[in-house]
Amino acid sequence: VKEQYQEMLLFYRMGDFYEMFFHDAEVASQALGIALTHRGKIEDRDIAMCGVPVHALDGYLARLIQQGHKVAICEQSETPEAFKKRGGKGPLPRDVVRVVTPGTLQEDGLLNAQQHNFLVAVGRVSAELAIAWADMSTGDFYVQPCNDGDIDTMLARLQAAELIYADDLADRLGSAQSPYHASAQPSALFDHKKATDRLCEFYEVSTLQGFGQFTPPMLSAAGGLLAYLQRTQLNQMPRLAPLCLLSKHAFMDIDAATRKSLELTQTLSGERSGSLLHAVDFTRTAAGARLLHGRLSAPLTDRTEIELRLGLAGWFLDQQLLCYSVSNHLKQCPDLDRSLSRMASGRGGPRDLASLAEGLLGARRIASSCLSSDHIDLNPEIARLCSVAEAPSSVGDMIIPALGDDLPLLARDGGFIRPGYDSQLDNLRQMRDESRRLIAALQADYAEETGISSLKIKHNNVLGYHIEVRATHGEKLLNNDGFIHRQTTAQAVRFTTTALSDLEKQLSTAADRAVALELELFAELTQTVLRQSGQIAEAAHALACLDVAHATARLAERHNYTRLLLREDTSFEIEAGRHPVVEQMLAASTPFIANDCQLSGQANLWLLTGPNMAGKSTYLRQNAHIAILAQAGLYVPADRAEIGIIDKLFSRVGASDDLARGQSTFMVEMVETAAILNQSTDRSLVILDEIGRGTATWDGLAIAWACLEHLHNKNRCRTLFATHYHELTSLNTQLDRLRIYAMQVREWKGEIVFLHQVAAGAADKSYGVHVAKLAGLPAAVIQRAAGLVRQLEAQSFGSASTTDMLPLFDMPASDDNLVSAQPAIQISEQLHDLLTALEPDAYSPREALSLLYELKAEHDKSG
Ligand code: ATP
Repeated sequence: VKEQYQEMLLFYRMGDFYEMFFHDAEVASQALGIALTHRGKIEDRDIAMCGVPVHALDGYLARLIQQGHKVAICEQSETPEAFKKRGGKGPLPRDVVRVVTPGTLQEDGLLNAQQHNFLVAVGRVSAELAIAWADMSTGDFYVQPCNDGDIDTMLARLQAAELIYADDLADRLGSAQSPYHASAQPSALFDHKKATDRLCEFYEVSTLQGFGQFTPPMLSAAGGLLAYLQRTQLNQMPRLAPLCLLSKHAFMDIDAATRKSLELTQTLSGERSGSLLHAVDFTRTAAGARLLHGRLSAPLTDRTEIELRLGLAGWFLDQQLLCYSVSNHLKQCPDLDRSLSRMASGRGGPRDLASLAEGLLGARRIASSCLSSDHIDLNPEIARLCSVAEAPSSVGDMIIPALGDDLPLLARDGGFIRPGYDSQLDNLRQMRDESRRLIAALQADYAEETGISSLKIKHNNVLGYHIEVRATHGEKLLNNDGFIHRQTTAQAVRFTTTALSDLEKQLSTAADRAVALELELFAELTQTVLRQSGQIAEAAHALACLDVAHATARLAERHNYTRLLLREDTSFEIEAGRHPVVEQMLAASTPFIANDCQLSGQANLWLLTGPNMAGKSTYLRQNAHIAILAQAGLYVPADRAEIGIIDKLFSRVGASDDLARGQSTFMVEMVETAAILNQSTDRSLVILDEIGRGTATWDGLAIAWACLEHLHNKNRCRTLFATHYHELTSLNTQLDRLRIYAMQVREWKGEIVFLHQVAAGAADKSYGVHVAKLAGLPAAVIQRAAGLVRQLEAQSFGSASTTDMLPLFDMPASDDNLVSAQPAIQISEQLHDLLTALEPDAYSPREALSLLYELKAEHDKSG
């Protein structure tokens, strides 16, 4: 068995345990912190072994999967009785029934309810690429074409739980630092020519044309993914929705660095709380939370689709009472998708059936609330979603009467069908209970007959039902012909009788038949569900859409968000915008100060200066968040917002290093800046905070300056550029679309007060020393630093005000000037005087030449 599953840990079923041997045992014992022991020998050496109890499998699996291991589960494939009956000898036959990998999970205990768990496959044919992804726990299955440069952005968007690709892509995707559990698979799995047949066979269709027009790389990716599922799930394949084709530019591009810095779905420390998603999530169901997570991770670029989502939310916002009642109904709805998915792959239990039924009946209640005649101006999309959601609810009607109240997790042991549902089952149960009652009655009869009042009828796994008396009474029964001796221990002697064994047989037959019948009924109910699985999956999705729409309305109502106006041009006009997370985190007594932002037409590049702690980063991020919320189809924290669709969003905020990838803080900053300058277009939104802070002052200033020019002249994108290099504000005379803004502060009795207000104009000071004081640096250090600042300002730079700018800012923008910029500020006084007096138009060619010699001589003299 192990030979076929080389790269996985093999969990080998031995009675009540899964055992691992050899190298697997060493790896698993270390990963799980369990004892490493040994069992048997090979060539005189002990065979390493460790094991975990069967009932605790999920917990151990979760830990191994989190650490990136794959586990092959090998079960006994025959019962000991059947094996013996056919004359089998030696260990029971065993087969691997499933391979568990990070991207192929279905168990609630191994999954995050609020997030999809995507298995992602990359396919390549010639130079063309495509990405397919599926969530086995919900049945979602998508494919999208992509360029080589987009792969990382797409993987970041999907937060892939596991990544697979063909061997020949290993150079491109097989980095040891990949944050995804990535593995190369045999190229044969990704053969696009075989993919069509594989997909057709799986969906039981003769052509894929009804699904979409798939290119060879798309078939390679989707076919590879399906083949991998078949390899890992063996004969328990999940249900997958029809493969859905997404166009290349369906979503706003947001690269991994931008996602991280904006803390979209998790904070820098990996928590949900504190992220944008957490601040705006008012959904009530797990499927709704997953849908919102997906939407926020992949804002749309299609205007009609965004408007559709906004329309749904708007409808709920107009019906507050209905919104609250829908909210209450949604709260009762269990996770339809995940239960359906487990049932489809044969891993479902009675609780999954019950969840399905409750979910479907919940969907009916929600639909009828929405469709009720009070709401005259019914939104047509709401009406459509409601009818899809309630369509399969009759399945729920069929299931509910069948199930009891206290349901076991697994169907195996029976006891879940409600009494009264099936008369044959009721009879069997009656027979079983009657036999139990008769056995109990026998105990009283035998006690009386033998005169041994302590005689008991007991049950254990070895003897089954038996009569037990204390050792002192044993002799008495040994001499009684009616009692057949079974066992003597130090304390007790055990017997049986013909009557007892007849009753036991009767009981066990009735009990076995009852369980068998329950399993038949379970299978029938499961089939009823699976016959409608497509409809149920659509209902689940419709319900999730209603959840997100109602949640958007509740968010808008609770935090005063507005519906944005989408525009065709490249405007970005925000009136009184707020930061969704900071606003909620501020104490009630501290109001959040709203700010406008107008990056439109002839003024689409804002340079923002201001002291430390004044709110620059907050302002920058809030505008990026507003853009994301808007295109995800949510309401935005502003009084008014008008935005032209953004194709790519880039954000570089704050400093961080990536030591694992061998990149210093400054290197990370430059890599991210390079991505922005190389990729942003005139439809992009760029947020840049503190470019060039990680290096020497002049280098940093020069880089920030050059970036600003490039963004203005080449990228021409909507840009917010925050900086502490106040010198850059002079560039507004040269860059016509640049506007200068500053965070307002007020000095009061030697202290500074942050007003958190953005206003036109440049900041005059950084107040870094003030902030250092607030942070608690020792008084001596603060005093010394304050003195040094005064000296530095007086000596090197003069006043830092905008009226007394350094000469280098007078030069026109070009690459050559950037190189000469640094010497220009070190010229001697004489040279400076000469240059100031110079009037180029007043000289003859001869005079000009002699002046040139004079300048050169003066320069050489001053070194
Ligand atoms: P630095 O230059 O040191 O990075 P900064 O100018 O980027 O500072 P932020 O980090 O944006 O400053 O803001 C500092 C703090 O000020 C925030 O954590 C928040 O508590 C508060 N703040 C920022 N903006 C606002 C606002 N508009 N209204 C109320 N409080 C705000």
